[in-house]
Amino acid sequence: MAGLRVVIVGGGIGGLTAAVALRARGIEADVYEQAHRLGEVGAGFMLAPNSLRVVERLGLYDKVTQVGVRFTGIEICHADGTEMTAWLSGESDGFTIFGMHRADMVSLLVSSLPDDALHLNHRCVAFTQDNDRAVVTFENGESAEGDVVVGADGIHSTLQQYVVEPRDPVFSGLAAYRGVMPAERVPDWPDGAVRDWSDGTKNLLVYPVRRGELLNFVAFTLADEQMRESWSAPGDPQQLAADFGDGWDALARKVVSQVDATFRWGIYDRESLRQWSQGRLALLGDAAHAMLPYMGQGANQAIEDGMGLATLLEGVNTADVPQVLARYQTLRRDRAARFQQG
Ligand SMILES: Cc1cc2nc3c(=O)[nH]c(=O)nc-3n(C[C@H](O)[C@H](O)[C@H](O)COP(=O)(O)OP(=O)(O)OC[C@H]3O[C@@H](n4cnc5c(N)ncnc54)[C@H](O)[C@@H]3O)c2cc1C
Repeated sequence: MAGLRVVIVGGGIGGLTAAVALRARGIEADVYEQAHRLGEVGAGFMLAPNSLRVVERLGLYDKVTQVGVRFTGIEICHADGTEMTAWLSGESDGFTIFGMHRADMVSLLVSSLPDDALHLNHRCVAFTQDNDRAVVTFENGESAEGDVVVGADGIHSTLQQYVVEPRDPVFSGLAAYRGVMPAERVPDWPDGAVRDWSDGTKNLLVYPVRRGELLNFVAFTLADEQMRESWSAPGDPQQLAADFGDGWDALARKVVSQVDATFRWGIYDRESLRQWSQGRLALLGDAAHAMLPYMGQGANQAIEDGMGLATLLEGVNTADVPQVLARYQTLRRDRAARFQQG
C-alpha cells in the first residue's frame, strides 16, 4: 500500500504544524504558500498550554523556550493603571503561556521540514476532486495532486468555498493596531510581564516576545468605517498615541509614544462553519474557524487542528480518506466553535 500524499495550501502556523505532524508520522506532506518568502509578517501571539502540549509532542518545546518569553504574570488594569485583576498565566500540566513572534513560530516549524517540502510563490486558485484524487491549481500554472488537500489558507480562504457556501464576515465595529518594537525603548518594562489596560471601550495589551528583545502591542479601538481584514494594512502611530494619551497609565503612554510603525485593521466575526470537510478536502486554522482575538486561541486552535488531523490520518488507506476527514470535523469543530463563541 502506497502512503498518503497530503497537499497543504497555506504556510501559516496551522498549515506548517500540520505538515510537521504529518511528516512525523511518515506521511508525505507538502506546503504550498502564495508568498514569495515567509518573512516577518504578523506580530506576537500567545502560545497557551493546550498547544504547548502539541509543540512538545512535535519535539519543538525546547526551541519555543529559547525564542519565546515565558510569562511571569498577567495584570488587567483600568486605563489609569489601577489593577482590576492579576493572575499567573494559567499553568497546566507544568506548561504556562509563552509570548511568541509569529515569524519565530513560522521559522521554528519550517526548520523541522525538509527544504523541498515548502513551495513558495504558489497561490491556489482552484480545486477539483473525484473519488480517487484531489487536485489544486496554482496561479503560476502548476498543479499539485494528493489523496488529501488541506485548506490552511487563512481567514480569506480560497478553498473554503469548496466546502461550504461563502458567507460574508460581520464587522465587529473594532479595529486593532498591532505591531512590535525594540524592548529597549521601554527599559522599565517588567521581565516577562503582560499588561492589559482598558477604559471600557478601548484596550491596550502589551507583552514581550523574541527572548524579550521585542515588545508586542495590540490596541483595540472603536471604528466606524468598514476596514479590511489584513496582516499588513498600515496604521498611524500618532493616532495610536493620541488614542491612548490623556488619562492613561504612564507605562501605557510610554509604550504607545515609542511606536514608529504599526498595522491597523478591522476585526471581523464569523459564524461557525457547519462543515469542515468535503470528500478529500479539509479546512484547518482560520480557514475553518476564524475568531475574534479575545480568547487568544486562533493560532492555538490551528495547532491543535494540525495535530488532530495528522493523528487521524496515520495508517489510513486512500479510500478511507473522506470518512477520516469527516471524523476530523467531528473531533475538532465543536471545540473550536466554543472558542469562537467565547
Ligand atoms: C489582533 C489579533 C491578535 C491575536 N492574538 C492571538 C493570540 O494571542 N493567540 C492565538 O492563538 N491567536 C491569536 N490571533 C489569531 C491568529 O493570529 C490566527 O488565528 C492564526 O494566525 C491563524 O493561523 P492560520 O495558519 O490558520 O492562518 P494564517 O496565519 O493567516 O496563514 C494562512 C497562510 O495561507 C496563505 N494563503 C492564503 N491564501 C492562499 C492561497 N490562495 N494560496 C496559497 N497560500 C495562501 C497566507 O499567505 C498565509 O501564509 C490573533 C489575531 C488577531 C487579529
